[in-house]
Amino acid sequence: MALDYDALDLRVGFEIHQELDTHKLFCDCPSILREEEAPLKIKRRLRPTQSELGEVDRAALMEAIKGKGFRYQVYPENICLVELDDEPPHPVNKEALDIVLEIALLLGANPVDEVHVMRKTVIDGSNTSGFQRTMLVATGGKLETKKGTITIQTICLEEDAARKVGEDSEFIDYRLDRLGIPLVEIATGPDFTDPRTPAEAALKVGQLIRATGKVKRGIGTIRQDINVSIRDGARQEIKGVQELSLIPTIVEREVKRQLALLRIKEELVGRGAARVEGKAVNVGKVFSKTKCKAIANVLAKRGTVLAIKLPKFGGLVGKELQPGRRFGTELADYAKVYGKVGGIFHTDELPGYGISVEEVSKMRNMLSATADDAIAIVAAKKGNAEKALDAVIARTNQALLGVLEETRRALPDGNTEFMRPLPGAARMYVETDIPPIVVDEKKLDCIRKMLPELPEQKVKRYIDEYKLNKELAERMSLSENSKLFEDLVEKHVIDPTLIATTLEETLVSLKREGAMVENIQRAALDEIFDLIKMGEVAKEAIPDILREVAKGFGVPDVVQRLSLRKITEAELAKMVSDVIQENWVLIEKRGRDAMQPLMGILMEKVRGRVDGRLVHQLLERELQKFEFRTETS
Ligand SMILES: [Zn+2]
Repeated sequence: MALDYDALDLRVGFEIHQELDTHKLFCDCPSILREEEAPLKIKRRLRPTQSELGEVDRAALMEAIKGKGFRYQVYPENICLVELDDEPPHPVNKEALDIVLEIALLLGANPVDEVHVMRKTVIDGSNTSGFQRTMLVATGGKLETKKGTITIQTICLEEDAARKVGEDSEFIDYRLDRLGIPLVEIATGPDFTDPRTPAEAALKVGQLIRATGKVKRGIGTIRQDINVSIRDGARQEIKGVQELSLIPTIVEREVKRQLALLRIKEELVGRGAARVEGKAVNVGKVFSKTKCKAIANVLAKRGTVLAIKLPKFGGLVGKELQPGRRFGTELADYAKVYGKVGGIFHTDELPGYGISVEEVSKMRNMLSATADDAIAIVAAKKGNAEKALDAVIARTNQALLGVLEETRRALPDGNTEFMRPLPGAARMYVETDIPPIVVDEKKLDCIRKMLPELPEQKVKRYIDEYKLNKELAERMSLSENSKLFEDLVEKHVIDPTLIATTLEETLVSLKREGAMVENIQRAALDEIFDLIKMGEVAKEAIPDILREVAKGFGVPDVVQRLSLRKITEAELAKMVSDVIQENWVLIEKRGRDAMQPLMGILMEKVRGRVDGRLVHQLLERELQKFEFRTETS
């Protein structure tokens, strides 16, 4: 059933994080990600520190409760003491700041007079210092789209965090290469009132910032967070949306989740439910002969099985919030995050998982639980089970209040799961190691004069000046090859459409074939287009030449070896007449129908060396003569 989003007062906004194409923000290390094994690993532990404001942030504290150590993978060539937090940050990368100012002006935002570097507490270990540095660069921009105006609230420059690459029971593994890469963060207002428009808007913003030509491209270089709220619900920050196409599903499902939580709350109020006051009970003896493997394993390792009565929650824990995710799944999220357990069981799904009817009724007796009540069960090491159950109780009590503000993680199927509480306001404080930077009016004027062409202006120019068709013009205007395209057109003065299709179609299909197109250098393209201009090779030979160049061969070698040198019209005429001579029996027999097989024979000999249309023309002309001869003789 379609939801009435207006009636629900749906509000959606998003934040785009895009990596800038420059060195790191607070040191001179290159912004390069590494895939090979790191030569050096460093172990650290972080403690929650009181910020200058004297308050330990609740989100920060939550991460600390988890209490794991961190193992950092270090590549000495692109990680220095700054990333390791053994040296203060260097002054802000000026180029990065200029790029963000350029983006701000493109979006019609107002740069601030002075940029202040702030610290944002992050103690999940992804920042070695325990905070992320960020600076507000501009506010209040807007972007016009066909569907209305998108308001830009803030544009910030910040450092990317380390990449999490693994985890075991004691340590979380991070690769430090990404730490410190400059990011622009663009946050919109909660402007969107339906699930579809945010994705379209995010695409627009993404295209606009790529128009600067100064941001990184490729998977992982742009990330979106979205925030969603509805009337009577609560604002959710949903992190890590990799695919724009997933945004509508994520928003729809988040709305459904909040509505379901509101219905659960109503139902609880109707039932007169109160906060969970009971204590966790050790129900281990109920399971002494259990067929439930998960519980049996825990008991075999001297673990504990704890249970808590959730009064009047019977039937509600099993209520579906999102496809495949129930209220019980939310409780399990909390148990996993705070107690580091694998999950929980609850009576709405029992008997099941090897837990028998008898075991359930024994538990109900032990906890004096009636059919109206639910029971949540955790089996784990004692300390973990206790923390997990405390988290389950806290989350259960929140259900009485409705929807809770959370930071959630986007899952690949469009659902979301709990990540941490929404951070409080105490999270930011001033970075004392770096003085404020005054934004110079003269510099802004300079940037303003040099602003890049917007994507739609570029499309128009490609159609008007270069006569590209609309589709190719649109593709080329958004392509990372657009600058190269313009350079090549200017240098070689040949058909721009040929250059555009070579860059946007031929190279793409060669890549799909598995060719190492990244080996193809600009110089090779120049050589090929020179040969075409001089009439030495036919444009049909381009894919064959590039395929070989991708393997590391030089252009002249390839042309020579594959005999790709263009056939002159005289040579072709000779070949045509030879083929006709060799096949006169066929021609006599089939007359004009011999055209197709003869064309096949010829193309076999000349493919890639001459335009097929010319072959067709010559063959047709010669055949007509032949027919004329046979008719009159
Ligand atoms: Zn560095």
